[in-house]
Amino acid sequence: MNTYPLFIAEELAFKSKHNTLQSQGTVISSTLSGLEKLDAENVGKVMELLDIGNLSRCIVTDTAGLVLYDTENMDVGQGLFALFPGIVTALEGNDVFRSSFSDGAFQSSVAMPVMYRSETIGCVYLYEYDTTQAAVLIDVQSTLRSISLIVAASILFVSALLSRILTRRISRILAAIKIVHEGEYSHRMRIRGHDELAELGTEFNRLTDRLEKTEEMRRRFVSDASHELKTPLASIRLLTDSILQTESMPPETVREFVSDIGEEADRLSRMTAKLLSLTRMSDAPETRVEKTNLSDIVHSAAHMLKPLADSCHVVLVIREEPEAYIMADPDDIYQIVFNLIENGIKYNHPGGEVQVRILVYGSIVELLVDDNGIGIPSEDLPRIFERFYRVEKARSRESGGAGLGLSIVWDAVTKYNGTVTAGRSAIGGTSFSVKFPRCTEKEAEA
Ligand code: ADP
Repeated sequence: MNTYPLFIAEELAFKSKHNTLQSQGTVISSTLSGLEKLDAENVGKVMELLDIGNLSRCIVTDTAGLVLYDTENMDVGQGLFALFPGIVTALEGNDVFRSSFSDGAFQSSVAMPVMYRSETIGCVYLYEYDTTQAAVLIDVQSTLRSISLIVAASILFVSALLSRILTRRISRILAAIKIVHEGEYSHRMRIRGHDELAELGTEFNRLTDRLEKTEEMRRRFVSDASHELKTPLASIRLLTDSILQTESMPPETVREFVSDIGEEADRLSRMTAKLLSLTRMSDAPETRVEKTNLSDIVHSAAHMLKPLADSCHVVLVIREEPEAYIMADPDDIYQIVFNLIENGIKYNHPGGEVQVRILVYGSIVELLVDDNGIGIPSEDLPRIFERFYRVEKARSRESGGAGLGLSIVWDAVTKYNGTVTAGRSAIGGTSFSVKFPRCTEKEAEA
């Protein structure tokens, strides 16, 4: 950017030199062309009349290059020949212009023939050594150099400053990532500014938020799960120890203990099956979502639970709607229906009742499971969908499970954009209501 203006200024100076020297040369050569023959005397006279102004040197030669007039050597006529390349070319009938800029000066020369009736009778050579214009150019050059230096220095300074600020901010993000990587999930970055790096920081904080919650959930889940699994295992250990340590134990007692061990083992396998089902629900990347008839599922779950209901002396009443279609994986819906009806039977009194109803209205399909059993105290209601949560009243009951059934229900319902609520039933015990979006015509066709 700096060399370009200098180059232009130099070109302009060359052009103006060319013009002035050319016009001066033309004036001299056309004045001399009035003479028939050039000699030192008549050329000297003519040149005296002409004003050669700022020229450093002016030479006039005849056709052979013999100097007839020279401003640097007024004592002509000594047979000196000026055979500069410019003069030789001019004597061949051509105009020649040369200019150069070096050592703080413009050196320009023009050589042109002097014609008499279209015949070359001599040559005019003009030379100019100009330091004034050159000084201006040099001045411009040095000013531009200083400006360039200042601009370059400022750019370097600002770039260094900016890159320092940026690296410092990036190092802060890196440090935060390292801290979280080492396991301190509660660490958060302080956000300053509104640029992309600040956005990156906000996203990082959000990510760590999630990570912290997931980690907390994982920890709680693992500790709850191991705690729950420990109880039946401890009973099994206790029972086997008693069998092994009691010598001559009556065979009926051994049978009773072994059957207890079997029951505990059953409980363990039921619990692991539920845990597996929970992980399946949260991990499964894709499920078989299809048009599912809720009524069919209620029927098959009720069929499976009939023996349990009979053994608990609980009556199952089903009032269904034949066209209750939802988009879901039938296995997940089966889990929901099964767990709710099973709870209605388990937490009931002999002679009790479990009512299952399906309602279809607007864009909703609703499943209602009511029982007149032991009920859930209102203070426990908000927590019953948590993993491993059991109402104290039900804990002592033999029928009590691991507190996983309702969390399976919750996960499955939310997976299909449904809602589940629990409350007091009109018939005395607990009422569960599950609402799903109804399967649309378009979904059904797809
Ligand atoms: P569990 O395997 O213990 O049945 P759930 O998650 O299915 O676990 O239920 C959690 C707790 O909620 C139960 O332990 C019980 O105390 C209470 N509960 C669930 N359903 C009912 C119901 N229909 N009537 C009374 N209490 C219930």
